[in-house]
Amino acid sequence: MRRGRTIKAQLRFYSLLLILLPLALSLAAFYGVLRTEGLDRAQSEMQAELRHHRFDVERWLGYRLADVVHVSRTDAVRRVDLPAMTRDFHAFLDAHGDFRSLVYVDAAGRTVVDFDMPEGGVDISDREYFLRARQGQPFISRVLVGRTSGKAIVIFSSPVLNPQGDFAGLVFGAVRIDALHEMVSSLRRTPVDPPFLVDAATGLPLLAPEGAPAIPLPADSTVIDGPVPYRNRDGHRVLGVGLPLKNGEWLLVQERAVSDVLGDMHRLLLLLLAVSGLTMAVLTPFLLRLARRVTEPIERISAMSERIMAGEYGNACPGLDAAQVTPELERLYRNFCRMAERIGIHVGELERLSGTDDLTGLANRRLLAEEGARIVGICRRAGQPCACLMLDLDRFKHINDVHGHATGDEVLRRLAATIMSTVRSSDFAVRMGGEEFAVIAPNTDAVRAMALAERIRRNVERIDLRQGGMPVPVAISVGVAGLAAVPRHGSGPLEDLLARADNALYRAKQAGRNRVVLWEETVHAAPEDPAEQADRVERTDAEEPGKEPPAPEPPVRD
Ligand code: GH3
Ligand code: MG
Ligand code: MG
Repeated sequence: MRRGRTIKAQLRFYSLLLILLPLALSLAAFYGVLRTEGLDRAQSEMQAELRHHRFDVERWLGYRLADVVHVSRTDAVRRVDLPAMTRDFHAFLDAHGDFRSLVYVDAAGRTVVDFDMPEGGVDISDREYFLRARQGQPFISRVLVGRTSGKAIVIFSSPVLNPQGDFAGLVFGAVRIDALHEMVSSLRRTPVDPPFLVDAATGLPLLAPEGAPAIPLPADSTVIDGPVPYRNRDGHRVLGVGLPLKNGEWLLVQERAVSDVLGDMHRLLLLLLAVSGLTMAVLTPFLLRLARRVTEPIERISAMSERIMAGEYGNACPGLDAAQVTPELERLYRNFCRMAERIGIHVGELERLSGTDDLTGLANRRLLAEEGARIVGICRRAGQPCACLMLDLDRFKHINDVHGHATGDEVLRRLAATIMSTVRSSDFAVRMGGEEFAVIAPNTDAVRAMALAERIRRNVERIDLRQGGMPVPVAISVGVAGLAAVPRHGSGPLEDLLARADNALYRAKQAGRNRVVLWEETVHAAPEDPAEQADRVERTDAEEPGKEPPAPEPPVRD
């Protein structure tokens, strides 16, 4: 047989499921949809913000370049008026704090006005900004290391044309990288890390503090496309966006920590977890109580049904604490108890009836086997005497034949009543069947048993029954036996006792009826001698002085 899971186990399992399933679904939804959506949204926001920043950076670079272009077009520069140029350059540097230096380079590529350099100038004709200036282009350089300062700088240069319109050198201003750094760092609309510049060719941060190891950004384009978090230079998991700047030479990059981007969602999840945990903690005692309230009465009913199956009806229903069970189960339990009680009453009645003779109300032969054995057992254990009387109506067939069956039944009833009124309450009277009865008398020796038998016989004789004005004579023969120390007849002490009493009854009949005969070992165990037997049977009458003579035997019709 397949054993299903118990109610208690199922209640616990489904309750746990009820709490954990929404949590698991929320987690799945978060990782399946919400997280990607969150990252997408964050990246779009970052991109929009970065566009503004790129505009700011480009404008900043444009202003610096415009300043240098302006200087390159002043009269002093175009006419190469060195004193005026020196004066103007000083004024310019005073007014523009971002610029570290402002230099005029002649058409041959040698610095002419340069406050940081000694007399004689330096040749910068190999520099890209010089080549660009010769082509007539203003230019913003990559990050360079200043030849004189050794510091990282960006050069803004503009070609100089003399009044005739010929190339007459260039003006360049060097902006310390720190100034650009400060500018980019100040770009922060939302409270997140500021953007930073990256060399698009190498992927190295443009504005890394001096001496800091430059760790390349991811080689692929994830910084620009797709919300795929990566680990940045500091080892943090970040979401990054990048926009090209300066014709794709630089990349303006902004990063946000993933924990920051998904922070709200993480907090929501944690809250959900906490609420689930709290719900579990709060609900668990209630669920356990419910499981107990449901299972306890059911377990009790099961135990009761087992006791009832084993034939125990009394005490089958122990009291139930109503507060500990649900009302439905309490009703079921109470009804079950009532049913068990009623079954007990009915079974008791059935048992009583099955051991009772309908006609006389005496115990029947079935009960004799049980009750007789019990009485005999008690006597034997207590070492007490015990006797059996076997009684049989004399010529009963004749009574039936002459007076009718109903009268016969009435005779049987009156005989039973007479027996019951004569024996002690501790004696056990039985209708053996037909017109034969027995009495098991505990704590009674042979002498007393004979006296009892005789009393019954005489009382039976006195039964006054008439039928159609005619008296119905009633008489019995009785065989008496005492409990033997060693049973010899039948399968046990009771059977031995009954067999010997029956034998004595047989002899009473043989001896002429309406008399009492005691079974005696010496007489009954020996081969039958009719003469002796008749003699012995008569003894009972002789022992009873004043005994009325037996009623004349009714005429035998058949
Ligand atoms: P004996 O003196 O030798 O015992 O003769 P008897 O007629 O009493 O014995 P027998 O065994 O020949 O007849 C017994 C009769 O008892 C036969 C049967 O019809 C009758 N009988 C048995 N049970 C009942 C009963 O319940 N009611 C009635 N009315 N008669 C019964
Ligand atoms: Mg008989
Ligand atoms: Mg008879």
